[in-house]
Amino acid sequence: MSQATPSVSVLGLGAMGGVLAQTLLHSGCAVTVWNRSAERAAPLIQAGATLARDAQSALLASDLIIICMIDKAASEAVLLSLGPTFDLGGRTLVNMSTGTVAEVERLARWADEHNVHYLDGGILCYPKDIGAAHTAILYSGHPHAWEQHRQTLKALAGNPRYLGTDPKACTPTYLALYAFYFGAFAAWLEGTVLAASAGVSVEAFKTLSSIMTDMLVDGIDTAAKRISTGEYGGEQASVDVHVAGQEVVLDALVSAKLPHASTLAYLSYCHLAQAAGLGDQDIAAVYKAMQP
Ligand code: NDP
Repeated sequence: MSQATPSVSVLGLGAMGGVLAQTLLHSGCAVTVWNRSAERAAPLIQAGATLARDAQSALLASDLIIICMIDKAASEAVLLSLGPTFDLGGRTLVNMSTGTVAEVERLARWADEHNVHYLDGGILCYPKDIGAAHTAILYSGHPHAWEQHRQTLKALAGNPRYLGTDPKACTPTYLALYAFYFGAFAAWLEGTVLAASAGVSVEAFKTLSSIMTDMLVDGIDTAAKRISTGEYGGEQASVDVHVAGQEVVLDALVSAKLPHASTLAYLSYCHLAQAAGLGDQDIAAVYKAMQP
C-alpha cells in the first residue's frame, strides 16, 4: 500500500530554506512555504509549493514544519508573536536555524506548551549539497517525531545523524563542528595567501593541500586516541617542537606583511600547554591545557 504524500511547511526561504523547500518538492512532498518577504517564495510557488498567507497558516498547513531563518532568535520572535493559546495539534517542528543552547531550551519549552513535537536541527553543508547521499544534518529531540519523519527528512540529507532525545544535544555539537571547520578553513586561507606571495598559484596550492588534509585526518585520529587513553608521550613531535616550527611560519607571514591570526591562535594554544608544564608532551596535550 502506498503511503500518503508527506506534507511539509518551510518557514524561511533564504539561500538555505529555499533549497530545502525546493528539494522537498522534488522528492514528492506537498510543500507549503512562508517567508517574511513574500517575493522570495515566487520560484517555489511556480514549482508547485503553496504560499501560506502568514506564519500561523504555514505552521498549521502540514504535519512536518521546518524553520530555517537567519538565527533561532528570529524564529523565536515569529513563534512568540502567535500568542500563548496557539495549539499545533501534535505536529512536528524542526528548527534548522543556527542558535544558542539557551534558545533551544526556550524553543523546546515553547513547543511543549503549544502541543508540537520539537526536533532541533543543524545543517552541515552548503545549499548546493542539500539532497545528496553524503550530506549530513544533525538532529536531536522528540524520538517519535524523529521516527515518524526521518524518511521525509532523508530527502534533505542522505546521511542524517540523530543525537538522541535531548533537544539540547544537537546545537553544541553543531557549533563545535563549525568551530573546527572554519578554524581549519581560516588556516588554509592563511597558507594560501602565504604561498601566493611566493608565486605558488591557488590551484597548485590546492592540489598540494590534500597532503595536509590527509595528515589532518590522521592527526585527529591519533590525538583522539591519545586523549582517551591519556598517553601523551612526545616521541613524535613535542609541543616545544611544534612551537619552534610555528614560530618560523609566523616569522614568514609577518615578514611578508600578511595576516597571521590563525598561526597566532595555534601558537597561543601551544603556549598554554608550555605554561602548564606540558612542553615535552605530544601536541594532543594542548587539549589538557585548554580545559576551563
Ligand atoms: P539567508 O540570509 O539567505 O536567509 C535568511 C532567512 O531568514 C530569510 O528567509 C529571511 O527572511 C529570514 N529572516 C531573517 N530575519 C528574520 C526575522 N526577524 N523574522 C523572520 N524571518 C527572518 O540565510 P540562509 O538561508 O543561508 O541561512 C538560514 C539558516 O541556515 C541560518 O541559521 C544559517 O546559519 C543556517 N545554515 C546556512 C548554511 C548556508 O550555507 N547558507 C549552512 C548551514 C546552516 P527575508 O527574506 O524576509 O529577509
